[in-house]
Amino acid sequence: MFAEKMVELGSRRSTIREIFEFGKKRAAEVGAENVFDFSLGNPNVPAPQAVEDNILKLVTTEESAALHGYTSAQGDAGVRSRIAGSINRAHGTHFHADNLYMTVGAAASLCICFKALAEEGDEFITFAPYFPEYKVFAEGTGAKLLVAPADTDSFQIHFDEFEKLLGPKTKAVIVNSPNNPSGAVYSEDTILKLTELMKRKSEEYGHAIYLISDEPYREIVYGNVKVPYLTKYYENTFVCYSYSKSLSLPGERIGYVVVPDEMEDQKAAYAAVCGAGRVLGYVNAPSLFQRVVGECVGKTSDVTIYRRNRDLLYNALTEMGYTCVKPDGAFYLFPRSLEPDANAFCEKAKEFDILLVPGDDFGCPGHVRIAYCVQTEMIERSLDAFRKLSEQYQ
Ligand code: PLP
Repeated sequence: MFAEKMVELGSRRSTIREIFEFGKKRAAEVGAENVFDFSLGNPNVPAPQAVEDNILKLVTTEESAALHGYTSAQGDAGVRSRIAGSINRAHGTHFHADNLYMTVGAAASLCICFKALAEEGDEFITFAPYFPEYKVFAEGTGAKLLVAPADTDSFQIHFDEFEKLLGPKTKAVIVNSPNNPSGAVYSEDTILKLTELMKRKSEEYGHAIYLISDEPYREIVYGNVKVPYLTKYYENTFVCYSYSKSLSLPGERIGYVVVPDEMEDQKAAYAAVCGAGRVLGYVNAPSLFQRVVGECVGKTSDVTIYRRNRDLLYNALTEMGYTCVKPDGAFYLFPRSLEPDANAFCEKAKEFDILLVPGDDFGCPGHVRIAYCVQTEMIERSLDAFRKLSEQYQ
Protein backbone atom coordinates (compact mmCIF):
# COMPACT_ATOMS: atom_id res chain seq x y z
CA MET A 1 0.00 0.00 0.00
CA PHE A 2 0.98 3.62 -0.41
CA ALA A 3 1.52 6.05 2.42
CA GLU A 4 -2.00 7.21 3.22
CA LYS A 5 -0.97 10.76 4.03
CA MET A 6 0.85 11.16 0.70
CA VAL A 7 -2.13 9.86 -1.29
CA GLU A 8 -4.34 12.32 0.58
CA LEU A 9 -1.96 15.24 -0.07
CA GLY A 10 -1.62 14.35 -3.74
CA SER A 11 -5.38 14.07 -4.26
CA ARG A 12 -6.51 17.06 -2.20
CA ARG A 13 -8.40 19.62 -4.25
CA SER A 14 -6.37 22.73 -4.97
CA THR A 15 -8.32 25.97 -5.26
CA ILE A 16 -5.63 27.65 -7.33
CA ARG A 17 -5.40 24.69 -9.75
CA GLU A 18 -9.17 24.70 -10.17
CA ILE A 19 -9.17 28.44 -10.85
CA PHE A 20 -6.40 27.95 -13.39
CA GLU A 21 -8.41 25.23 -15.19
CA PHE A 22 -11.52 27.43 -15.13
CA GLY A 23 -9.48 30.30 -16.62
CA LYS A 24 -8.29 28.12 -19.52
CA LYS A 25 -11.86 26.97 -20.23
CA ARG A 26 -13.23 30.54 -20.17
CA ALA A 27 -10.38 31.81 -22.38
CA ALA A 28 -11.40 29.24 -25.02
CA GLU A 29 -15.02 30.46 -24.77
CA VAL A 30 -14.69 34.25 -24.58
CA GLY A 31 -11.09 34.93 -25.65
CA ALA A 32 -8.02 35.15 -23.42
CA GLU A 33 -8.14 38.97 -23.44
CA ASN A 34 -11.54 38.88 -21.68
CA VAL A 35 -10.45 36.68 -18.76
CA PHE A 36 -8.83 38.53 -15.85
CA ASP A 37 -6.72 35.90 -14.15
CA PHE A 38 -5.25 37.25 -10.90
CA SER A 39 -4.79 33.83 -9.33
CA LEU A 40 -1.10 33.01 -9.76
CA GLY A 41 2.07 34.39 -8.15
CA ASN A 42 4.10 33.79 -11.29
CA PRO A 43 6.25 36.89 -12.02
CA ASN A 44 5.37 38.58 -15.31
CA VAL A 45 8.39 40.89 -15.27
CA PRO A 46 11.26 39.32 -17.24
CA ALA A 47 14.51 38.31 -15.56
CA PRO A 48 17.18 41.03 -15.78
CA GLN A 49 19.28 40.96 -18.96
CA ALA A 50 22.27 39.92 -16.84
CA VAL A 51 20.65 36.51 -16.29
CA GLU A 52 20.50 35.73 -20.02
CA ASP A 53 23.93 37.26 -20.63
CA ASN A 54 25.50 35.11 -17.94
CA ILE A 55 23.78 31.92 -19.07
CA LEU A 56 25.18 32.52 -22.56
CA LYS A 57 28.62 33.43 -21.25
CA LEU A 58 28.80 30.37 -19.00
CA VAL A 59 27.62 27.86 -21.60
CA THR A 60 29.85 29.25 -24.34
CA THR A 61 33.03 29.77 -22.34
CA GLU A 62 33.13 27.05 -19.71
CA GLU A 63 33.91 23.41 -20.12
CA SER A 64 30.61 21.49 -20.19
CA ALA A 65 31.47 18.62 -17.84
CA ALA A 66 32.65 21.07 -15.16
CA LEU A 67 29.81 23.58 -15.61
CA HIS A 68 27.08 20.96 -15.42
CA GLY A 69 28.85 18.64 -13.00
CA TYR A 70 28.18 18.04 -9.32
CA THR A 71 29.10 20.81 -6.91
CA SER A 72 29.57 20.29 -3.16
CA ALA A 73 26.33 19.03 -1.57
CA GLN A 74 25.79 22.45 0.04
CA GLY A 75 26.56 24.34 -3.19
CA ASP A 76 29.60 25.76 -4.95
CA ALA A 77 31.89 27.43 -2.40
CA GLY A 78 32.71 30.35 -4.72
CA VAL A 79 29.01 31.04 -5.35
CA ARG A 80 28.17 30.85 -1.64
CA SER A 81 31.01 33.22 -0.90
CA ARG A 82 29.82 35.77 -3.51
CA ILE A 83 26.26 35.65 -2.19
CA ALA A 84 27.47 36.00 1.41
CA GLY A 85 29.50 39.08 0.37
CA SER A 86 26.48 40.60 -1.32
CA ILE A 87 24.25 40.11 1.77
CA ASN A 88 27.02 41.61 3.92
CA ARG A 89 27.27 44.71 1.72
CA ALA A 90 23.50 45.21 1.77
CA HIS A 91 22.85 44.51 5.45
CA GLY A 92 26.13 44.89 7.36
CA THR A 93 26.20 41.19 8.29
CA HIS A 94 29.36 39.04 8.45
CA PHE A 95 28.44 35.89 6.56
CA HIS A 96 30.86 33.62 4.74
CA ALA A 97 30.42 30.62 2.44
CA ASP A 98 29.82 28.21 5.30
CA ASN A 99 26.79 30.14 6.52
CA LEU A 100 24.98 29.29 3.28
CA TYR A 101 23.39 26.16 1.87
CA MET A 102 22.15 26.39 -1.75
CA THR A 103 18.66 24.98 -2.36
CA VAL A 104 16.03 24.50 -5.05
CA GLY A 105 14.05 27.60 -4.05
CA ALA A 106 12.25 28.78 -0.92
CA ALA A 107 10.05 25.68 -0.71
CA ALA A 108 13.15 23.53 -0.34
CA SER A 109 14.78 26.04 2.03
CA LEU A 110 11.72 25.81 4.27
CA CYS A 111 11.50 22.01 4.11
CA ILE A 112 15.19 21.77 5.00
CA CYS A 113 14.85 24.08 8.01
CA PHE A 114 11.69 22.33 9.23
CA LYS A 115 13.36 18.92 8.88
CA ALA A 116 16.55 20.19 10.56
CA LEU A 117 14.53 21.31 13.59
CA ALA A 118 11.44 19.17 14.04
CA GLU A 119 11.03 16.25 16.32
CA GLU A 120 7.74 14.39 16.85
CA GLY A 121 5.35 16.55 18.86
CA ASP A 122 7.08 19.87 18.16
CA GLU A 123 4.99 22.90 17.30
CA PHE A 124 5.70 25.59 14.71
CA ILE A 125 3.81 28.87 14.76
CA THR A 126 3.03 31.21 11.90
CA PHE A 127 0.81 34.24 11.35
CA ALA A 128 -2.29 34.48 9.20
CA PRO A 129 -2.48 35.22 6.39
CA TYR A 130 0.18 32.65 5.49
CA PHE A 131 1.56 30.63 2.57
CA PRO A 132 -0.55 27.44 2.75
CA GLU A 133 2.34 25.10 1.98
CA TYR A 134 3.77 25.77 5.48
CA LYS A 135 1.19 23.36 6.86
CA VAL A 136 2.12 20.65 4.38
CA PHE A 137 5.85 21.13 4.96
CA ALA A 138 5.53 21.23 8.77
CA GLU A 139 3.23 18.23 8.99
CA GLY A 140 5.54 16.31 6.66
CA THR A 141 8.14 16.39 9.44
CA GLY A 142 5.73 15.21 12.16
CA ALA A 143 5.47 18.70 13.67
CA LYS A 144 2.24 20.66 14.05
CA LEU A 145 1.61 24.12 12.57
CA LEU A 146 -0.28 26.58 14.77
CA VAL A 147 -1.59 29.76 13.18
CA ALA A 148 -2.04 33.07 15.01
CA PRO A 149 -5.09 34.89 13.60
CA ALA A 150 -4.44 37.98 11.49
CA ASP A 151 -4.46 41.58 12.58
CA THR A 152 -6.66 42.56 9.65
CA ASP A 153 -6.30 46.30 10.29
CA SER A 154 -2.61 46.33 9.40
CA PHE A 155 -1.46 42.76 8.69
CA GLN A 156 1.34 43.28 11.20
CA ILE A 157 1.36 40.77 14.11
CA HIS A 158 -1.50 40.20 16.54
CA PHE A 159 0.75 39.81 19.59
CA ASP A 160 -1.92 38.78 22.11
CA GLU A 161 -3.00 35.93 19.85
CA PHE A 162 0.62 34.96 19.20
CA GLU A 163 1.52 34.86 22.88
CA LYS A 164 -1.39 32.49 23.56
CA LEU A 165 0.16 29.95 21.16
CA LEU A 166 3.74 30.12 22.47
CA GLY A 167 4.46 27.21 24.78
CA PRO A 168 7.07 24.67 25.85
CA LYS A 169 6.53 22.68 22.62
CA THR A 170 7.21 25.67 20.35
CA LYS A 171 10.24 24.86 18.22
CA ALA A 172 10.10 27.64 15.65
CA VAL A 173 8.19 30.66 14.42
CA ILE A 174 7.85 31.33 10.69
CA VAL A 175 7.53 34.86 9.35
CA ASN A 176 7.05 35.97 5.77
CA SER A 177 7.70 39.64 5.05
CA PRO A 178 7.02 41.03 2.47
CA ASN A 179 3.99 38.83 2.78
CA ASN A 180 2.12 36.56 0.45
CA PRO A 181 -0.85 37.25 0.32
CA SER A 182 -1.22 40.58 2.18
CA GLY A 183 1.78 42.44 0.70
CA ALA A 184 2.51 43.74 4.22
CA VAL A 185 6.09 44.38 5.30
CA TYR A 186 6.79 43.93 9.01
CA SER A 187 8.03 47.20 10.49
CA GLU A 188 11.14 47.35 12.65
CA ASP A 189 8.84 47.92 15.62
CA THR A 190 7.00 44.66 14.87
CA ILE A 191 10.30 42.80 14.54
CA LEU A 192 11.60 44.23 17.84
CA LYS A 193 8.41 43.21 19.66
CA LEU A 194 8.45 39.76 18.08
CA THR A 195 12.08 39.02 18.88
CA GLU A 196 11.88 40.40 22.43
CA LEU A 197 8.92 38.14 23.15
CA MET A 198 10.68 35.14 21.59
CA LYS A 199 13.84 35.80 23.64
CA ARG A 200 11.76 36.00 26.83
CA LYS A 201 9.90 32.77 26.03
CA SER A 202 13.12 30.93 25.06
CA GLU A 203 14.49 31.80 28.49
CA GLU A 204 11.27 30.87 30.25
CA TYR A 205 11.11 27.43 28.57
CA GLY A 206 14.88 26.84 28.79
CA HIS A 207 15.38 26.11 25.07
CA ALA A 208 15.84 28.08 21.90
CA ILE A 209 12.79 29.01 19.89
CA TYR A 210 14.01 29.46 16.32
CA LEU A 211 12.90 32.12 13.88
CA ILE A 212 12.52 31.08 10.24
CA SER A 213 12.38 34.03 7.87
CA ASP A 214 10.76 33.08 4.56
CA GLU A 215 11.75 35.95 2.32
CA PRO A 216 11.43 35.33 -1.41
CA TYR A 217 9.96 38.84 -1.83
CA ARG A 218 12.71 40.71 0.11
CA GLU A 219 13.62 43.06 -2.75
CA ILE A 220 10.07 43.64 -3.99
CA VAL A 221 9.20 46.70 -1.90
CA TYR A 222 7.99 50.17 -2.81
CA GLY A 223 9.23 53.62 -1.83
CA ASN A 224 11.53 53.84 1.15
CA VAL A 225 10.16 50.79 2.93
CA LYS A 226 12.89 48.85 4.76
CA VAL A 227 12.80 45.11 5.32
CA PRO A 228 14.82 44.46 8.51
CA TYR A 229 17.42 41.66 8.17
CA LEU A 230 16.34 39.33 10.94
CA THR A 231 19.66 37.71 11.94
CA LYS A 232 20.62 41.17 13.25
CA TYR A 233 17.67 41.16 15.65
CA TYR A 234 17.55 37.53 16.67
CA GLU A 235 20.53 35.18 16.77
CA ASN A 236 18.62 31.92 16.30
CA THR A 237 17.31 32.88 12.85
CA PHE A 238 17.33 30.78 9.68
CA VAL A 239 16.86 32.82 6.49
CA CYS A 240 15.05 31.03 3.64
CA TYR A 241 15.67 32.87 0.40
CA SER A 242 14.77 32.26 -3.22
CA TYR A 243 15.45 33.87 -6.60
CA SER A 244 12.00 32.83 -7.86
CA LYS A 245 10.58 36.32 -7.47
CA SER A 246 13.57 38.68 -7.20
CA LEU A 247 15.12 37.45 -10.47
CA SER A 248 11.85 36.07 -11.95
CA LEU A 249 13.26 32.53 -12.05
CA PRO A 250 10.56 30.40 -10.39
CA GLY A 251 10.94 27.51 -12.81
CA GLU A 252 14.69 27.28 -12.37
CA ARG A 253 14.43 26.35 -8.68
CA ILE A 254 17.26 28.19 -6.97
CA GLY A 255 17.65 29.75 -3.53
CA TYR A 256 19.52 29.25 -0.26
CA VAL A 257 19.34 28.93 3.52
CA VAL A 258 21.46 31.13 5.82
CA VAL A 259 22.62 29.70 9.15
CA PRO A 260 24.40 32.61 10.86
CA ASP A 261 27.48 32.19 13.10
CA GLU A 262 25.52 33.88 15.89
CA MET A 263 23.15 30.92 16.12
CA GLU A 264 23.41 28.78 19.23
CA ASP A 265 25.57 25.72 18.47
CA GLN A 266 26.02 26.93 14.88
CA LYS A 267 28.14 23.98 13.73
CA ALA A 268 25.42 21.53 14.77
CA ALA A 269 22.73 23.75 13.21
CA TYR A 270 24.58 23.85 9.87
CA ALA A 271 25.18 20.09 10.09
CA ALA A 272 21.44 19.59 10.69
CA VAL A 273 20.68 21.68 7.58
CA CYS A 274 23.16 19.57 5.56
CA GLY A 275 21.64 16.39 7.03
CA ALA A 276 18.11 17.53 6.18
CA GLY A 277 19.22 18.42 2.63
CA ARG A 278 20.63 14.91 2.35
CA VAL A 279 17.55 13.11 3.71
CA LEU A 280 15.25 15.12 1.45
CA GLY A 281 17.43 14.58 -1.62
CA TYR A 282 18.07 18.32 -1.98
CA VAL A 283 21.86 18.10 -2.31
CA ASN A 284 23.51 20.02 -5.12
CA ALA A 285 21.08 22.71 -6.28
CA PRO A 286 21.23 23.08 -10.12
CA SER A 287 24.87 23.80 -10.99
CA LEU A 288 24.26 26.18 -13.91
CA PHE A 289 21.84 28.32 -11.95
CA GLN A 290 24.06 28.41 -8.88
CA ARG A 291 26.66 29.99 -11.16
CA VAL A 292 24.12 32.34 -12.77
CA VAL A 293 22.83 33.73 -9.47
CA GLY A 294 26.42 33.99 -8.24
CA GLU A 295 27.15 36.25 -11.25
CA CYS A 296 23.95 38.28 -10.71
CA VAL A 297 24.34 39.21 -7.03
CA GLY A 298 22.68 42.53 -6.20
CA LYS A 299 20.49 42.47 -9.33
CA THR A 300 16.68 42.29 -9.36
CA SER A 301 13.92 42.29 -11.95
CA ASP A 302 12.30 45.66 -12.65
CA VAL A 303 10.27 46.31 -9.49
CA THR A 304 8.87 49.59 -10.89
CA ILE A 305 6.48 47.53 -13.05
CA TYR A 306 4.98 45.88 -9.95
CA ARG A 307 4.75 49.27 -8.27
CA ARG A 308 2.85 50.70 -11.23
CA ASN A 309 0.45 47.75 -11.09
CA ARG A 310 -0.04 48.11 -7.35
CA ASP A 311 -0.80 51.83 -7.62
CA LEU A 312 -3.18 51.37 -10.52
CA LEU A 313 -5.16 48.56 -8.91
CA TYR A 314 -5.10 49.83 -5.32
CA ASN A 315 -6.23 53.33 -6.31
CA ALA A 316 -8.96 52.09 -8.64
CA LEU A 317 -10.36 49.47 -6.24
CA THR A 318 -10.41 51.71 -3.17
CA GLU A 319 -12.14 54.40 -5.22
CA MET A 320 -14.82 51.85 -6.15
CA GLY A 321 -15.39 51.12 -2.46
CA TYR A 322 -13.23 48.04 -1.89
CA THR A 323 -11.43 48.06 1.49
CA CYS A 324 -7.77 47.15 1.40
CA VAL A 325 -4.64 47.63 3.52
CA LYS A 326 -2.17 49.29 1.14
CA PRO A 327 0.59 46.75 0.49
CA ASP A 328 4.22 47.89 0.76
CA GLY A 329 5.70 44.92 -1.04
CA ALA A 330 5.40 41.57 -2.86
CA PHE A 331 2.91 41.60 -5.75
CA TYR A 332 -0.40 40.90 -4.06
CA LEU A 333 -3.40 42.94 -2.94
CA PHE A 334 -5.56 41.41 -0.19
CA PRO A 335 -8.83 43.36 0.02
CA ARG A 336 -11.91 42.40 2.02
CA SER A 337 -14.42 40.40 0.04
CA LEU A 338 -17.65 42.35 -0.50
CA GLU A 339 -19.61 39.65 1.31
CA PRO A 340 -18.44 37.77 4.41
CA ASP A 341 -17.99 34.48 2.55
CA ALA A 342 -14.90 35.01 0.38
CA ASN A 343 -15.58 31.76 -1.52
CA ALA A 344 -19.03 33.00 -2.53
CA PHE A 345 -17.50 36.34 -3.49
CA CYS A 346 -14.89 34.62 -5.70
CA GLU A 347 -17.70 32.67 -7.40
CA LYS A 348 -19.53 35.95 -8.04
CA ALA A 349 -16.27 37.47 -9.41
CA LYS A 350 -16.02 34.56 -11.85
CA GLU A 351 -19.33 35.68 -13.39
CA PHE A 352 -17.37 38.78 -14.47
CA ASP A 353 -14.40 36.65 -15.53
CA ILE A 354 -12.28 37.92 -12.64
CA LEU A 355 -10.28 35.08 -11.09
CA LEU A 356 -9.30 35.60 -7.44
CA VAL A 357 -8.21 33.32 -4.59
CA PRO A 358 -10.28 33.23 -1.38
CA GLY A 359 -8.46 34.28 1.81
CA ASP A 360 -9.64 31.11 3.55
CA ASP A 361 -6.82 29.31 1.73
CA PHE A 362 -4.37 31.59 3.59
CA GLY A 363 -6.04 31.26 6.99
CA CYS A 364 -7.77 34.63 6.64
CA PRO A 365 -11.45 34.41 5.68
CA GLY A 366 -13.35 37.45 4.46
CA HIS A 367 -10.53 38.50 2.13
CA VAL A 368 -9.37 37.68 -1.38
CA ARG A 369 -5.92 37.59 -2.95
CA ILE A 370 -5.31 39.49 -6.16
CA ALA A 371 -1.92 38.64 -7.71
CA TYR A 372 -1.01 41.71 -9.76
CA CYS A 373 2.15 40.23 -11.32
CA VAL A 374 0.32 40.49 -14.65
CA GLN A 375 0.37 42.77 -17.70
CA THR A 376 -0.64 46.32 -16.77
CA GLU A 377 -2.99 46.35 -19.78
CA MET A 378 -4.90 43.42 -18.29
CA ILE A 379 -5.41 45.37 -15.06
CA GLU A 380 -6.68 48.32 -17.09
CA ARG A 381 -9.10 46.09 -19.01
CA SER A 382 -10.31 44.44 -15.77
CA LEU A 383 -11.35 47.64 -13.98
CA ASP A 384 -14.77 47.80 -15.59
CA ALA A 385 -15.45 44.21 -14.47
CA PHE A 386 -14.33 45.06 -10.89
CA ARG A 387 -16.73 48.03 -10.96
CA LYS A 388 -19.64 45.87 -12.14
CA LEU A 389 -18.79 43.31 -9.46
CA SER A 390 -18.87 45.98 -6.73
CA GLU A 391 -22.23 47.24 -8.04
CA GLN A 392 -23.69 43.82 -7.28
CA TYR A 393 -23.25 44.64 -3.61
CA GLN A 394 -24.70 48.17 -3.54
N1 PLP B 1 7.13 31.24 0.39
C1 PLP B 1 6.24 32.12 -0.08
C2 PLP B 1 5.66 33.11 0.86
C3 PLP B 1 5.84 32.09 -1.42
O1 PLP B 1 4.94 32.98 -1.86
C4 PLP B 1 6.40 31.12 -2.27
C5 PLP B 1 5.99 31.03 -3.67
O2 PLP B 1 5.07 31.64 -4.15
C6 PLP B 1 7.33 30.23 -1.74
C7 PLP B 1 7.68 30.32 -0.41
C8 PLP B 1 7.97 29.17 -2.59
O3 PLP B 1 8.90 29.76 -3.43
P1 PLP B 1 9.86 28.95 -4.40
O4 PLP B 1 9.31 29.05 -5.77
O5 PLP B 1 11.17 29.67 -4.31
O6 PLP B 1 9.96 27.56 -3.90
